[in-house]
Amino acid sequence: YCFSSILLDGSINNTEEDDEDDVVDLAANSLLNKLIRQSLVESSHRVEVLQKDPSSPLYSVKTFEELRLKEELLKGIYAMGFNRPSKIQEMALPMMLAHPPQNLIAQSQSGTGKTAAFVLAMLSRVNTLELFPQCLCLAPTYELALQTGRVVERMGKFCVDVQVMYAIRGNHIPRGTDVTKQIIIGTPGTVLDWCFKRKLIDLTKIRVFVLDEADVMIDTQGFSDQSIRIQRALPSECQMLLFSATFEDSVWQFAERIIPDPNVIKLRKEELTLSNIRQYYVLCENRKDKYQALCNIYGGITIGQAIIFCQTRRNAKWLTVEMMQDGHQVSLLSGELTVDQRASIIQRFRDGKEKVLITTNVCARGIDVKQVTIVVNFDLPVNQAEEPDYETYLHRIGRTGRFGKKGLAFNMIEVDKLPLLMKIQDHFNSSIKQLDPEDMDEIE
Ligand code: ADP
Repeated sequence: YCFSSILLDGSINNTEEDDEDDVVDLAANSLLNKLIRQSLVESSHRVEVLQKDPSSPLYSVKTFEELRLKEELLKGIYAMGFNRPSKIQEMALPMMLAHPPQNLIAQSQSGTGKTAAFVLAMLSRVNTLELFPQCLCLAPTYELALQTGRVVERMGKFCVDVQVMYAIRGNHIPRGTDVTKQIIIGTPGTVLDWCFKRKLIDLTKIRVFVLDEADVMIDTQGFSDQSIRIQRALPSECQMLLFSATFEDSVWQFAERIIPDPNVIKLRKEELTLSNIRQYYVLCENRKDKYQALCNIYGGITIGQAIIFCQTRRNAKWLTVEMMQDGHQVSLLSGELTVDQRASIIQRFRDGKEKVLITTNVCARGIDVKQVTIVVNFDLPVNQAEEPDYETYLHRIGRTGRFGKKGLAFNMIEVDKLPLLMKIQDHFNSSIKQLDPEDMDEIE
């Protein structure tokens, strides 16, 4: 079945809420990324390493065997289909598994193998003969905590005596319970509660502390302070690890406050570029006109798959209905869907079940659909000041230089928006050609 039709049947009459632009929710996007991820994300950059002690030798590994892991852990890794460490893991794992333990701050984009790395570190440091919490991992949301837990369960499949417990809201543990699970994954508020108020976890016995998704974490009110309160109660010999997909100054400042004497590992992201995208614009009078132009383009060239971006939910819905009524197979991805529903729509689109995906900004970032040849900006991305939103434009149509196939981008522009488009053209110093929608010869 198709979510978009369910959605449309139920809600064609627009509510006020539909007028709201979808706001980007960092935690939801991160979860979505995890749900739709199928394999490692590559990077052509080198891993940058900053050692706490520059005179100590720097180890990297090319195989998991070199790490001298417990047999059952190695079995778990291979059962997950991992053949060799990812780029970031090559450098991070030897540091994370070193004796004595070393602290680490690591930054690389999502999908590069950070979670797998720290799960491996936690599993390898658990002493199964001891029945109390030994590893503590903080995550920004309940759902993200569960995702990490799933990785622990899969990788630890053969480590039968290792158990996980979730310190998340709604997981009610009776007072006085003796927590015997060795790995605790939870959100800062609940973990704090379990440690200080309910005394379910003895922080002085924690050996590995992981702070995952630091960038998402600091975005949530109160989480930085709560995390720091937890960290302050850990023993000095506890290994402390922090991971982030991005590294603005704010993340860095937080990382330095919470991780003492760290090694630092960074893997830069593949840059987005417009250089292998042919960009066009079509001048239109109004929304109907834009739709007509879209149909002409659609009829005029052979299209693999297309993503169409709208600025508001209402526009996205309107367009979806129009296209469906004209017999096109489209699906709609917008912010009122749950993350699971979004993941399922993206998966269907990836499988080619729908040829057109209509969406608002929610999916502008991070979703990677390699076979998409065409991107349409049904509305130009603008910010609240009605200025062009350059970054969003780049994320919508840009490709990574290394993996990018040639692409086509169409901008549907009302006459009064033309100056905005010209600003975009100047900003990226790349040409956006005008297109007569009646004459598609120009493209092919
Ligand atoms: P991140 O935490 O940086 O987002 P993950 O650890 O979740 O990255 O890894 C991204 C994807 O790649 C997951 O599907 C994971 O199972 C897979 N993966 C991780 N490490 C390896 C590896 N060494 N070899 C193959 N696949 C891997």
